[in-house]
Amino acid sequence: MSPTTSKDLRVVIVGAGFCGLTAAIECKLRGMHPILIEAYPGPSSHGDLLDFVKNAGRVFESWDGGKIGRRLMAAGVNAAKHLEFFNAQDVLLRRDPWPQANDEDCVYAGHRGEMHRIVHEYAVEVGVDMRFSRRVARYLDTDSARGVVVNGPDGEETIFGDVVLACDGPRSLARSQLLNLPDTKVNSGYAIFRAYFNITDEMRQLPAFSDMIQEGEDRVRFWVGRDMHGFIYTWNHGRDCAWVLTHLDDADIAETWSFPGKREDVVRYLREAGFPPIWHEVLGATPADRIIDYKLVWRDPIPTWLSGSKKCAVMGDAAHCHLPTSAQGACQAVEDAVTAAICLQKCNGNVAEGLQVFERIRFNRSHVIHQASILTRNIYHKNDWTPDLVEEYPDSLIIPFYPWITNFDVFANAEEHYESLLEDVRSGKQGTLEQLALPAGGDYSAMLLEKRAPEEKREELPRASVVQVQS
Ligand SMILES: Cc1cc2nc3c(=O)[nH]c(=O)nc-3n(C[C@H](O)[C@H](O)[C@H](O)COP(=O)(O)OP(=O)(O)OC[C@H]3O[C@@H](n4cnc5c(N)ncnc54)[C@H](O)[C@@H]3O)c2cc1C
Repeated sequence: MSPTTSKDLRVVIVGAGFCGLTAAIECKLRGMHPILIEAYPGPSSHGDLLDFVKNAGRVFESWDGGKIGRRLMAAGVNAAKHLEFFNAQDVLLRRDPWPQANDEDCVYAGHRGEMHRIVHEYAVEVGVDMRFSRRVARYLDTDSARGVVVNGPDGEETIFGDVVLACDGPRSLARSQLLNLPDTKVNSGYAIFRAYFNITDEMRQLPAFSDMIQEGEDRVRFWVGRDMHGFIYTWNHGRDCAWVLTHLDDADIAETWSFPGKREDVVRYLREAGFPPIWHEVLGATPADRIIDYKLVWRDPIPTWLSGSKKCAVMGDAAHCHLPTSAQGACQAVEDAVTAAICLQKCNGNVAEGLQVFERIRFNRSHVIHQASILTRNIYHKNDWTPDLVEEYPDSLIIPFYPWITNFDVFANAEEHYESLLEDVRSGKQGTLEQLALPAGGDYSAMLLEKRAPEEKREELPRASVVQVQS
């Protein structure tokens, strides 16, 4: 029998990434019964850099009277003053204030694995029912039953729920099984070399790298060249370093897209792009087993996030797999998670209505941000950046943290729009999902280098429809 109040809802959540963990915590805090299922045996420590800015950071800040925010802040890049941009010739192009200046900014940047551990610990604290080492083999979505069939240590098991939230990441099984979508994985043509390691005393002697290793100050630097850009972060009193290098890549990827990286391959790319000595030093200092070659997969936007019954949804990277240049993939996953929990709380047990409202709140905003990751990458990569060009187009070589993105209050937004969108759902208002959903709230047109008729304008806007979607 379906529950009559949201308090009784059994919410099956697949995937304990930031999307699934946040959804489970937010559902639990709202009195529901989330069951979180994850294929890995525990919280994953993998990954290197991840930045949460205020639109997601305010969610962490809202937990346990701000304690989770404090923990994330303590673990992250909290003592940087600037974000500095350089070109391949190591010429300083711009220096922006580093946003994580104080608690109110709710900006948490640092090692993904460490931040994931902190959020996982909070899920344990609030009592989320977490079931690790269980891989979902089948999603169920019939009139009478919703749930998942999992393979785990005790063999096959079926877990039923009133609603299923599939936060199963870019390789989502739910997309094909719940939405009947063919796999539309597209090789983006780019890949990332990435690494995280502890800085040793020996590394502190390296002439160029030593400039980035400071006892009292974290450093965040960005280099951009033709078809390549990269970040180096140092933090934790000069003890931790992470770097990511995005480059053109012609490998024909299959389902696996994360491989051990080869130092000689990175050297080749650095040489071709003429990147400065600091990159060679940092690469030379990186333990070989820490270099990862991560192929960037792009997923085209999907027409709906809901299953046929409208009682199951895909969310996070399963719904919108951003390129890292949006700098918003995880932040948008967190927004999805909170919005879904609020809609389920408000739906009085009618999860099909609740999820339809959820989708209409989230669709356009997430879509525009997802799509802009291509535009942003091309603006970085398809121009020869000099101080003069930056001066001429100061809004182009930036991390696009516009106020409409970062100052967004996901809690207030869902509360504000729930009732009117529910009315639309109930009245059967007609239109495409883009027309029925809330406007995105902004666009990225300020980044365009207008006078240059840039390649990104010709090639990417029609496909990405970045400035065409209503805002
Ligand atoms: C190099 C890089 C840098 C990035 N930087 C940023 C950044 O600065 N800011 C930002 O906001 N975003 C960033 N992103 C994007 C961000 O990492 C992702 O958007 C985000 O982590 C997606 O979270 P998710 O929970 O949706 O998916 P995932 O983290 O992929 O989690 C999915 C989970 O589902 C589990 N799973 C999958 N299938 C099954 C199954 N069948 N059964 C059980 N479990 C299953 C997986 O094991 C996994 O734990 C970056 C991405 C990259 C690659």
